[in-house]
Amino acid sequence: MTSVRFDNRVALVTGAGGGIGRAHALALAERGARVVVNDYGVSLKGDQEQDDRAQSVVNEIKALGGEAVANRDSVADPEGAAAMVTQALDTFGRIDIIVNNAGINASDAIQDEPGPAYERHMAVHLEGQLLTVRAAWPHMERQRYGRIVNTSSAAALGFVQPNGTWFGSYAIAKGGVLAATRQQAGAGAGHNIKANAILPLAISRMVAPSIPGTTVLDYMERHTGPAHVALAAAVLASELCPVSGQAFSLSGGRVALLVYASPLGYANPDLTPESVLENWDQVMGESDEEHRLLNFYEAVDNAFEYTLMQRAG
Ligand code: NAD
Repeated sequence: MTSVRFDNRVALVTGAGGGIGRAHALALAERGARVVVNDYGVSLKGDQEQDDRAQSVVNEIKALGGEAVANRDSVADPEGAAAMVTQALDTFGRIDIIVNNAGINASDAIQDEPGPAYERHMAVHLEGQLLTVRAAWPHMERQRYGRIVNTSSAAALGFVQPNGTWFGSYAIAKGGVLAATRQQAGAGAGHNIKANAILPLAISRMVAPSIPGTTVLDYMERHTGPAHVALAAAVLASELCPVSGQAFSLSGGRVALLVYASPLGYANPDLTPESVLENWDQVMGESDEEHRLLNFYEAVDNAFEYTLMQRAG
């Protein structure tokens, strides 16, 4: 079996002081990468806390025999994003991999006036990853190598919070991450720069393990740690990454492409609003078995049940 290694590669993982980011940093370092462990040290809502969680992950990596340095800049600050990349170059001489993971969830609703939560979501999730990629881009282009893993969310597809509320501008920013990934993949195509996105599900402080309810969450409670996400994302961060511009749903040991697809649909050069309505089943692909798409959550639920059955033997 081909091994996925990162020897001689330098990775920057943002928001890596805990949760999924820490798991990315450990997984990459364990397989040979030298890692810049970034974390601004904020609360879930994005308030600054006196915190040195980046350094504690660096200590963990060093204790395991790996190489890492800590960075405490904010991804949302253009100077901070540039400084992270400069730190990678000054310390390790290059930058090959960016895992844009830093995130907050400040909870707002779509019907609210855009306020501080909206601004924070856009700044951290969307601008943050754009700024970091922009700072590294000229170096990746020059060395004709780059791997970018952006963190989106099932929230972008309409997943609601366990208490039934919608994610608001968090989800909108995460939708932007999917579009940004496509753009980066397009721009990187001639330069061996590959960009992909992940939609993770993992128990972290952002998703408490005690949430009761659906099959997905019951499953997560039992089986889903951030390491599952990081080990699958390592493929996308590696030299062997087979694709660019795609997004993958990752959790609990399940890895699946997110399909951006359209059924054959209804086609008629003389269409009228009435004929569109009359042929709505074709528009929706319901009459087209081959192209019928599973609802995303139906697919996730089915896959989790299938995995559970397999584990149960
Ligand atoms: P987490 O809260 O444990 O970790 C996020 C880290 O990002 C924190 O350590 C925080 O200090 C850091 N951070 C926040 N703002 C920052 C900034 N401006 N600059 C640098 N660091 C910053 O959350 P997590 O669950 O590990 O989430 C990691 C990523 O995955 C986030 O982007 C999140 O939106 C996304 N995500 C998580 C889940 C899940 O199931 N946990 C689901 C979907 C998406």
